[in-house]
Amino acid sequence: MAVSPEKIQRMADMLDGRMPVKELFRVVVGEKDPEAFDALVACLQQRVPWPEKILLPLSDHLSIVAKPCEGGAKAIVKCTCGQEFEDYRVNWKVKAKVFVRETAEQFREIYPPYMHPEPGWQVLREYYCPGCLALLEVEAVPAGYPPVFDSLPDIQTFYREWLGRPLPVDPHPYEDRTAAYIRQHLMAQA
Ligand SMILES: [Zn+2]
Repeated sequence: MAVSPEKIQRMADMLDGRMPVKELFRVVVGEKDPEAFDALVACLQQRVPWPEKILLPLSDHLSIVAKPCEGGAKAIVKCTCGQEFEDYRVNWKVKAKVFVRETAEQFREIYPPYMHPEPGWQVLREYYCPGCLALLEVEAVPAGYPPVFDSLPDIQTFYREWLGRPLPVDPHPYEDRTAAYIRQHLMAQA
């Protein structure tokens, strides 16, 4: 859907903190603009150096995009820097660089004294993009807990039933494919 340049600029002002607080408040409490999603996607698309169409933004750096492939297109996760995490149904965290904070000394680098988790009980995992080293996510979990899959959006249903338009990628089963990916790739390397 084509969105006016004014709406895209307004979205940019909102994202970058230039919108006055009173106006922002009206946006938050007011009736929602049905073009807001397209304005957001158009705004983010202008900011990335690559051509793949953004289907759904996930975070400051990550989006699900349509990646052309033989005979069509597939939905993958891509960083603003261009790093590709492939199939969006696989938790991108298993392909990221990760730094685990687990000792008192490591916790004290970021926590005030006596405020950090008990070493051995909880860990902090910092996930970084292998391409640009941006900090993508931090999770606080019990030691040994599997990487949390923050979001596995049903983009096919979202496009069909919410946006009322076809998703520009090949039809595919909606399922978490992280365990299958680990079996195929990581176990084989072990
Ligand atoms: Zn990156």
